[in-house]
Amino acid sequence: MKIGVLALQGDFAEHLVTLRRIGIAAQEVRLPRHLDGLDGLIIPGGESTTIGKLAVAYGLMEPLEAFGQEKAIWGTCAGAIFLSKDIHRHQPLLSLMDITVERNAFGRQVSSFETDLDVPALRRIDLQEKPYHAIFIRAPLIEAVHDAAEALACLPDGRIVAAQQGRLLATSFHPELTQDDRFHRYFASLAG
Ligand code: GLN
Repeated sequence: MKIGVLALQGDFAEHLVTLRRIGIAAQEVRLPRHLDGLDGLIIPGGESTTIGKLAVAYGLMEPLEAFGQEKAIWGTCAGAIFLSKDIHRHQPLLSLMDITVERNAFGRQVSSFETDLDVPALRRIDLQEKPYHAIFIRAPLIEAVHDAAEALACLPDGRIVAAQQGRLLATSFHPELTQDDRFHRYFASLAG
């Protein structure tokens, strides 16, 4: 199995480190041809407007959309925004997931926070009951899941912060910034 990480902007290096640590071959994706032979792709956190503009400039929009019709894609934070269909404003989006997302829903950078989440789906790959410690950095909220998308994790007040639609995964937070690799292993199970 080989998983790519979109390496246009943001914290792609941390995803590559985590993938390699759990024994998965990983490579940077900067051009359409780098998608060849991959089983899955991670779109990292960063700035979704910048990632979108660069994806347009490098001719990646259509190849990424086509990739997501067949293969697994996981977007973390800005990557989750980029995967969504609706964010109430215009910027380049892959529009692959039936989710509505609100950017910067928790306020400015200083309002970034960490919290423990219950993510029942992770028990499919690891039986430990330990809560998942999630890092939110000027994070988006998944305002609503529609059609084929379903919520995977919520804050205690019920607001959605992770969603899945078949092989597509979106998280508002940053699993690549922790030592807990359950989400990377979960994504690998979707890609495999
Ligand atoms: N605020 C960024 C955006 O709207 C996302 C932040 C992140 O990826 N940590 O694109």
